[in-house]
Amino acid sequence: MDNDLNLSIAQVIKKYGLFENIPRAKAFGQHFLCDSSLLTKIVSCALPLGGGDIIEIGPGPCGLTRAILNFAEGRKIICIEKDQNLKPLHDNLLKYSGANLSFIYDDALNINLSNLDIDRFTIISNLPYNVGTKILLHLLQDLDKVKSMVLMFQKEVAERICAIPGTKNYGRLSVISQVLCNCEKCFDVSNRAFFPPPDVQSSVIKLTPKIDRPSDIKNLEKLTAICFQHRRKAIHTILKKAFPDFSQNILDCCEIEPNTRPEGISVDKFLKLSTFLFA
Ligand code: SAH
Repeated sequence: MDNDLNLSIAQVIKKYGLFENIPRAKAFGQHFLCDSSLLTKIVSCALPLGGGDIIEIGPGPCGLTRAILNFAEGRKIICIEKDQNLKPLHDNLLKYSGANLSFIYDDALNINLSNLDIDRFTIISNLPYNVGTKILLHLLQDLDKVKSMVLMFQKEVAERICAIPGTKNYGRLSVISQVLCNCEKCFDVSNRAFFPPPDVQSSVIKLTPKIDRPSDIKNLEKLTAICFQHRRKAIHTILKKAFPDFSQNILDCCEIEPNTRPEGISVDKFLKLSTFLFA
């Protein structure tokens, strides 16, 4: 078996015929990055890695994995990949990298990362677009061992995650993400950087779990689902309809003006409101 580390990622893609079955590649949301300086830039956003292990979701042809290896310094790296067909390619990297690396073939949505035999970890991923938001919501369920997450999303999704109140992108995903994590946009990536290029632009963002985050956000999830269905309505009107026991006092306690629309309410105020409404 020849060492693939002597090949570029473009050559690896060709060697293993990864786009010979296009519908299959599409079903897995496969758009691969081949530019090593861009891949290094993504990993750099997670630095300093400071002690923990690393999880990569969707390694594909391992361009990002190779960049991670350059910084990993013996740390354990676990890659979770849904497409089993990539195993021969991964076996080659396992054989020649000499790294503390392993691959799990499963849907990331099926895996509770905290149950893995792993220390506190950083997650790095160029997420498949079709399930990016779903995977993020799954990761947010259990942040106890997460140091930080550096993730690539479709640009519009990244903007919704990081949006501030009063802007058109601010919504449920912003509130849920920001109540649990500090969310910052790192940089944009042109669709031309991918093979094959997707129809959308991308952004890399970094999410760092907050130390004082709430332990349970089920009620906040329910509340934001109700409120952001009616973005244009006043909060007072929405709550009066949805909660039979609602009284104006609750808004006063949360320092929310009754005529405010959901998009004008801060993350902290939403959290406070959820504790009052479901008390
Ligand atoms: N990291 C590589 C590939 C990104 S494409 C790069 O940057 O070039 C997205 C990858 O995620 C593909 O390899 C795809 O097969 C994999 N994938 C898709 N859905 C997945 C899921 N639900 N769980 C884990 N991996 C998934």
